[in-house]
Amino acid sequence: MTATGMVHPWQCRNARVRSVHCEAPDVMTLELVMDDPAAAPPYRFEPGQFNMLYVPGVGEAAISISGDPSDTSSLLHTVRAVGNVTRFLTNMTAGSCLGIRGPLGVGWPLSQCDGKDILLVAGGIGLAPLRPVVSALLADRHRYGHISLLVGARTPKDLLYRREWSAWQKDIDVQVTVDRADDGWNGHVGVVTTLLDRLPVSRPEQTVLMTCGPEVMMWYSIRAALDRGVRSSAVWLSLERHMNCGVGLCGHCQLGPELLCRDGPVVPFDRVAPFLKVDSL
Ligand SMILES: Cc1cc2nc3c(=O)[nH]c(=O)nc-3n(C[C@H](O)[C@H](O)[C@H](O)COP(=O)(O)OP(=O)(O)OC[C@H]3O[C@@H](n4cnc5c(N)ncnc54)[C@H](O)[C@@H]3O)c2cc1C
Repeated sequence: MTATGMVHPWQCRNARVRSVHCEAPDVMTLELVMDDPAAAPPYRFEPGQFNMLYVPGVGEAAISISGDPSDTSSLLHTVRAVGNVTRFLTNMTAGSCLGIRGPLGVGWPLSQCDGKDILLVAGGIGLAPLRPVVSALLADRHRYGHISLLVGARTPKDLLYRREWSAWQKDIDVQVTVDRADDGWNGHVGVVTTLLDRLPVSRPEQTVLMTCGPEVMMWYSIRAALDRGVRSSAVWLSLERHMNCGVGLCGHCQLGPELLCRDGPVVPFDRVAPFLKVDSL
C-alpha cells in the first residue's frame, strides 16, 4: 500500500468470481469480490478506468471496469473472448480465483459535465467502459442537460446489457442500431453514425461527446458530431492499445507522446487527433 493509503499499482489483489452473466456470444460479465476485503481499503474507481486481470499461469489483460462506481460491494468486468487470457476469463465460473491490479488509467471527464448535454456513443464491447458513466449520470441526473446514448452492435445478439435499457430509458434517450438484423429485430439497422445523423443536437456548443468502440466508428462519430457544431475540445474517446505494465513504464501502449495506460485510456480528442490519422500508430 502507498503512503496515501492507495493500493500500489504493482500490487495484485486476490479476487474470486461471485457470479457470471452471459451478455452475448463470447461475452461474459464477471462479478468479482476481493478475497479479503477487510485487509484492504474499499475498492473505488472512476468511470473509464480499467484493471489488469491476472489469470494465474496464463497472463494479464487490461479490462475496463463496467459496473456502478457507487457500488463498492463487488466489481464488474465485461469480457469478450479474443485470445488466451480473455478466453480463460470468459470460461470462469462462480468461485474461480484471479488477480486484480488497479484501478488504472484516467477516466471520463464527468467533473466537466455539469449543466452540459451529454452524448455517449458506444460500439460493441465499447459500451462496457461507458456503463459506469451511465450509472454516474443517472445517480445525479439533475446536474446534466439532455443525455443521449447511442449504441451500435454487429447483430442483435451482440447487444450488451439489454436487461438494463428500460431503466436507463426512463431518464435518458437510448437509441440502438445493429449492422445486420435477425428475424426478431424491429429496430434500426445501420452503423451508429446513422443514429447520430438524425439526432437533434440543440445545444452543440454545450454538448460533451464521450465515445468508445472500434477506432473507425469513433472517428466517424466524432466527425459527425463536429459537423453538427460540437466543439472538438468537448470530445473524449477511450483508446485501446496493447498494455503490459499498466503504469506508463513499458511503452507498449504508446500513441505519439501519450502512454495510454497512464495518460488514458480516456483522452481528449484534440490531444490525440494528429496521431489517429497515422495508420501505423
Ligand atoms: C484500457 C483497455 C480496456 C479494455 N477493456 C476491455 C473490456 O472491458 N472488455 C474486453 O473484452 N476487452 C477489453 N480490452 C481489450 C483486452 O485487453 C484484450 O482483448 C486482451 O488483452 C486480449 O488478451 P488475450 O490474451 O485474450 O488475447 P491475445 O492472445 O493477447 O490476443 C488476441 C487478439 O486480440 C488482439 N489484442 C490483444 N490485446 C489487445 C488490446 N489491448 N487491444 C486490441 N487488441 C488486442 C491481438 O492482437 C490478437 O489479435 C481493453 C483493452 C484496453 C487497453
